Amino acid sequence: MENEVVSRNFIENEIDKDLAEGVYDTVHTRFPPEPNGYLHIGHAKSILLNYGLARKYHGKFNMRFDDTNPTKEKTEYVDAIKRDIRWLGADWEDRLFFASDYFDQMYEAAVKLIRKGKAYVCDLTADEIREYRGTLKEPGRNSPYRERSVEENLALFEDMKNGRYGDGEKVLRAKIDMASPNMNMRDPVIYRVAHMPHHNTGDRWCIYPMYDFAHPIEDAIEGITHSICTLEFEDHRPLYDWVVRELEYPHPPRQIEFAKLYLTNVVTGKRYIKKLVEDGVVDGWDDPRLVSIAALRRRGFTPESIQMFVDLCGVAKGQSSVDYAMLEYCIREDLKMKRSRMMAVLHPLKLIIDNYPEGQVEYLDAANNLENEALGSRKIPFCKELYIEREDFMEEPPKKYFRLFPGNEVRLMHAYFVKCESFVKDENGQVVEVHCTYDPQTKAGSGFSGRKVKGTIHWVPAPYAVDAQVRLYENLIDEEKGVYNEDGSMNLNPDSLVTVNAKLEPALKDGKAYDSYQFVRNGFFCVDAKDSREDALVFNRIVSLKSSFRLPK
Ligand code: ATP
Ligand code: MG
Repeated sequence: MENEVVSRNFIENEIDKDLAEGVYDTVHTRFPPEPNGYLHIGHAKSILLNYGLARKYHGKFNMRFDDTNPTKEKTEYVDAIKRDIRWLGADWEDRLFFASDYFDQMYEAAVKLIRKGKAYVCDLTADEIREYRGTLKEPGRNSPYRERSVEENLALFEDMKNGRYGDGEKVLRAKIDMASPNMNMRDPVIYRVAHMPHHNTGDRWCIYPMYDFAHPIEDAIEGITHSICTLEFEDHRPLYDWVVRELEYPHPPRQIEFAKLYLTNVVTGKRYIKKLVEDGVVDGWDDPRLVSIAALRRRGFTPESIQMFVDLCGVAKGQSSVDYAMLEYCIREDLKMKRSRMMAVLHPLKLIIDNYPEGQVEYLDAANNLENEALGSRKIPFCKELYIEREDFMEEPPKKYFRLFPGNEVRLMHAYFVKCESFVKDENGQVVEVHCTYDPQTKAGSGFSGRKVKGTIHWVPAPYAVDAQVRLYENLIDEEKGVYNEDGSMNLNPDSLVTVNAKLEPALKDGKAYDSYQFVRNGFFCVDAKDSREDALVFNRIVSLKSSFRLPK
């Protein structure tokens, strides 16, 4: 252990300091999503960070839905979010909470502020409030309602709660400082009237707390010590601290901000994903081209690969953007040793072995993963008619092309050497059959050392092949142009999904939802959980292998 490299993120340094100074004697974190969409890779970072810290310090991790805004929230999202977090492996044990369960306490907290002379009911309209707020250069002006008496404020606030006022007619504001250089401190609104049913509390409330007021209360009620959020809340921290101080919580939580995770040329914002879903550009929130957690799972990513990715990204204060290629690297690394390496032909071309006896079948042994014996082996039927990849044959090969072309010999993986003797074209000039002869002495594993070949290609036995639809994905965004146009629309890549009818080796016929494999030379693939059927398999390409030779266009 002595040589172990311990890399600590800045949040851990802050926590260490707090523990050393006795500010806290435990660590209690939370993940507080708003149930207004599905979670994405950025949220995964926040989840694994918060959960990881709780584990590391033998503390606790809470799951809390921040459902204080009834307009956009849905039960569908609540269920999806829980499923995604469980899948990632973050365990909230019995601590699943809803901010809306605290509405009574939040109401009481607001009353407490009014009693202390720290909050008032204001009749200004939203536009007027904005106007009175001033600018970054100029101080704001006090609302004419700022000096209402405690009694009047209590009565008005109660009337707000009792439905006496319409939406926007009155708000409750914290009484802080209209001249504060921090705009968030210029008497922020903390409660508003909204006659709207709530997914959890139904019609019970017609006033709802604002995020900046609700969040610190939620944290304080749950005994959160370190309330970790993203950078855009840094300017809100003084308000967070003001709320917990004025409400006199005995163990005030502490807010710490870190930079959001951004992926280059990838749509992460919930709002934008929602738009793609609503516009029907993608097949739901779990379309494998998205980076929602549901989409990554459907595409075939593993929780381990996402953890690895998050660890590689690190936790920083400075905004930066990570390349999608890093996520691809992580899933490749994770699956490399864990998955069987099978043969599947994505663009089939018939190969006929002229000197192989008609009707004969041999069952060849193939190790599932040469680097991991534990994965065992399988038998592959070998016979006269096979499929190979269309790009593994060329009539007129360029230099350094070592695959099949007239007169050339290659190894068929796990099988024999075959030499190309001739080929057949259809009326359009498209090659439809390649004819070869095989050399029986060259069987894989036989120790044959008579001569060498430079190319090894994969194949599938034609009569035993399993048909499957294989979906090949590219970035949803046209990388040349960037994510958004000036008018806010997205630069979509028209080729982000290409579907091919592939031929698979027979061992793949029992693939179940989420099963994944390496298809040699073609990448890692996963059985699609939504569309795959026993008699009509559908695979998603998770990621290709490292770059390979491409046919010149
Ligand atoms: P989006 O901006 O995608 O709509 P959000 O911030 O509105 O997301 P919330 O449900 O409010 O989504 O977020 C829950 C938690 O996840 C918050 O603590 C938020 O800071 C964190 N989070 C959201 N996006 C990212 C991201 N890209 N990287 C890291 N953490 C994030
Ligand atoms: Mg949000």
